[in-house]
Amino acid sequence: MVNVPLAMRFACIILLWLLNFVAVSQTYQQIKNRFDNYLNYHAGLNSRVQIETNKIIFYNEQKQIVFIILKDDWQKMAVLLKTLPQDSLEKIFRNEATLSNYKTPSINPAKKSLSELKIMIDPGHIAGNISMARIEQKYLHFTKQNYPALKQDSIDIAEGVLTFQTASVLKKMLEEKGITVALTRQENGTSFGCSYDEWLKTNKEKKIKPHTTVSNGKFFMPFFKDYELQQRAKVINDFKPDMTIIIHYNVDEKNIDWKKPSNKDFCVTFIPGCLTADNIKTVQGQLNLLRLLLTDDLDESEKISSLVVNQLSKQLNIPIAKKQDATYLSEHCMSASTEGVYSRNLALCRTVQSPLVYGECLYQDSENECYALTQNTETAYGIKTNKRVMLAAQSFYNAIINFYSK
Ligand SMILES: [Zn+2]
Repeated sequence: MVNVPLAMRFACIILLWLLNFVAVSQTYQQIKNRFDNYLNYHAGLNSRVQIETNKIIFYNEQKQIVFIILKDDWQKMAVLLKTLPQDSLEKIFRNEATLSNYKTPSINPAKKSLSELKIMIDPGHIAGNISMARIEQKYLHFTKQNYPALKQDSIDIAEGVLTFQTASVLKKMLEEKGITVALTRQENGTSFGCSYDEWLKTNKEKKIKPHTTVSNGKFFMPFFKDYELQQRAKVINDFKPDMTIIIHYNVDEKNIDWKKPSNKDFCVTFIPGCLTADNIKTVQGQLNLLRLLLTDDLDESEKISSLVVNQLSKQLNIPIAKKQDATYLSEHCMSASTEGVYSRNLALCRTVQSPLVYGECLYQDSENECYALTQNTETAYGIKTNKRVMLAAQSFYNAIINFYSK
């Protein structure tokens, strides 16, 4: 009679030990999976980061250890990565402070209601008209000469106009659900809170001096794009969003010159990943990698991106891009485990500190899209736009609501 409870107790201990083992090994497996299948592009991080079952080690370029995080601290560090200010995180990473210097903030495990959510929407690029779109090289101009089937003399499309209309409609739709929403820029504006022309007037000379290679006006836009993207990431991170929605409209990469339409049309989404040693030269870069390893930002990004790409395909009635459909997908991306979602080393994917979807809604230069994108027959919330933009906004909206209702 005495042996039965003892046997049961023993069985319980074994079971608990097994559960513990499963939990720990799952966590290690998750981190290892993120590293191997999403982040470590062409094994370029192998000499700089080592993932072991009981610790993660970061090395500098001289192969010296710069930071170790033990398994017991993974959970706490994950929470701190999402809550501490950047300078405190840098102190931890530089070993100037230990984790015990910081209390783990209590995070309410209950799911947030829609009215508690903050979503940042980034309408890609700047242009609010064709002349700005020409400056930033994000425009299409088709004429009857190159495209005889055209129903009008010419077609002009500015990507920045499409992204801003999509973002504006989506913002209103989400706000009706009680969600707090912000945009990274205003119409025909940069994330510096002014237009490109206004920014040039006051900043060009000051900012351009250390960049002598870009003093020629022709090279200024590429410099500005990189510079402005850093500000965009700052605007997003300062807002501390629960999720970031980055909206773009694609073109067929093989349709070079983009003087006439392509017969292709795809939707696709990007998430963080595909990092190289160059991306983790700074402490900031290393902390971004650690966040992507230890938190569920990557998993959540994949989840929302999968919902978005499936909605885009369904609403717009276009196929989801497969790896072989574009060179940048087959050569510069890692396929996530879900269709139409790819890890890609884009500046915002690296630097935005929240789950994100970087959505490329459709091909603007598709013969099925180019004309439809110029027909502004729709008005929603006072915003005049076309049917395709409305369907794209609806796709993001459906995906977001679906994401938070599960
Ligand atoms: Zn774009």
